[in-house]
Amino acid sequence: MVIKSTKKIHRFPMTETKFKRRRPPKFELIGGNLALDSVNTLDDRPSGHPKELLTNFYELARFGEDAGILTGADVDRFYINVHLDPDEAGDAVRRAIHLREAMYAVFSALMKKQTVPQPALDTLNVYIRDAAQHTRLMQKDGRCELRYNEMTSRYSAMLWPIARAAADLLTSSDMALLRACSSATCQWLFLDTSKNHHRRWCSMKVCGNREKVRKFYAKKTTA
Ligand SMILES: [Zn+2]
Repeated sequence: MVIKSTKKIHRFPMTETKFKRRRPPKFELIGGNLALDSVNTLDDRPSGHPKELLTNFYELARFGEDAGILTGADVDRFYINVHLDPDEAGDAVRRAIHLREAMYAVFSALMKKQTVPQPALDTLNVYIRDAAQHTRLMQKDGRCELRYNEMTSRYSAMLWPIARAAADLLTSSDMALLRACSSATCQWLFLDTSKNHHRRWCSMKVCGNREKVRKFYAKKTTA
């Protein structure tokens, strides 16, 4: 089912537009890139007990809002209509996870200077092709902008800018800045844009602080 929308074309990135937030942010967007923030929606990946953050369409839409892909009004409209077609909404979540895992496999292989698994690259290419089919160049104020058709009418449309962000990053010199959090149980991905390129943690508040506490107690025990 396609939700009726008043807007046919969606401007990207939405972060450039001002819109009123309806909900407080829920996702920690520390990746410095939309594709990496999307990869980080599986928490504690290497712990053996990963925590899925995209448990249903509501969470996926919420991620879209936090990441600036959807406006609060877009998310409201999805929330109102989602019960009309739970199968398509559920499929969007499955596809989001499918894309995410392909992105993770490709990014992590390149970060470790390993060969990229071809099936993951093939999967990513499927989503990039899908995104390209909905991408249009539009004129605005003497310049051109990339926009997406049907961005607010299809449940899985938010995967288009995510796939596009992955393609842009993978072909950019910023890949040299790709790092994983030093916490053995976290390993969230981010771009290290710090001055000296010595950033170790996804967030000082979370993993950096946990390490400080661990070191403090280790010191006390040996003292
Ligand atoms: Zn971390």
